[in-house]
Amino acid sequence: MIIYKSAEEIELMRQAALLVSRTLGEIAKVIKPGVTGLQLDKLAEEYIRDHGAKPGFLGLYDFPNTLCISPNAQVVHGIPSNKPFDDGDIVSVDCGTLLNGFYGDHAYTFALGNVKPEVQKLLDVTKECLYIGIAETKVGNRISDIGWAIQQHAEKNGYGVVRELVGHGLGKSMHEDPQVPNYGKRGWGKKIQNGLTIAIEPMINMGTEKIRQLKDGWTILTADGLPSAHFEHDVAVVDGKPVILSTFDYIEEALAVK
Ligand code: MG
Ligand code: MG
Repeated sequence: MIIYKSAEEIELMRQAALLVSRTLGEIAKVIKPGVTGLQLDKLAEEYIRDHGAKPGFLGLYDFPNTLCISPNAQVVHGIPSNKPFDDGDIVSVDCGTLLNGFYGDHAYTFALGNVKPEVQKLLDVTKECLYIGIAETKVGNRISDIGWAIQQHAEKNGYGVVRELVGHGLGKSMHEDPQVPNYGKRGWGKKIQNGLTIAIEPMINMGTEKIRQLKDGWTILTADGLPSAHFEHDVAVVDGKPVILSTFDYIEEALAVK
């Protein structure tokens, strides 16, 4: 059952989403080759708690950390480790918060140092996929129109769209109805209505769409070992149109001055 949100609830969700945005902005200031995922995880947990919120992922389904950190061939749900990042890595950082009873959940894939042009293109196209999907999130459309648009753009560029993991409704729970796949046909699923709040999160692979899971029970990797990218925003439907509650502005400001 989809839980539609009031204007007041959407404002509270914006606060939770923006705290994730600011946390990712802090990460953007320090992430570089030589830094470890565990260092970022500690920074994020402290920043979120200092701002009166709780980490949204820590303990959720028994996940052990504040951040999901998924470098290179890892798609999502990577567990932060002690292994320093290398020059040329791409690193998906996914972060959740719980603030005033609502969850924020959004993600960015960082390019570290000298990333190969074909890998940078994967990042660019995946971010484009996110905004193309958001543009479809409007009254008059159905849920599958979002995934249809994302899939078209990814496959036009020769990439694989992960099937097993999807975007989702967001609110007082991290994962609510509806599921928001990154693939599909036009015109299927529930009609999009005002008050819908969802996390849209294309997970796009340079090669095959197929994935596998590590024995840690969490980490998802591409089956062929090629890189994967992941960008996520929290979106509400207001007056028939999509409103992005999260922002990449803090990240992009920090990266610009680096
Ligand atoms: Mg996420
Ligand atoms: Mg999510």
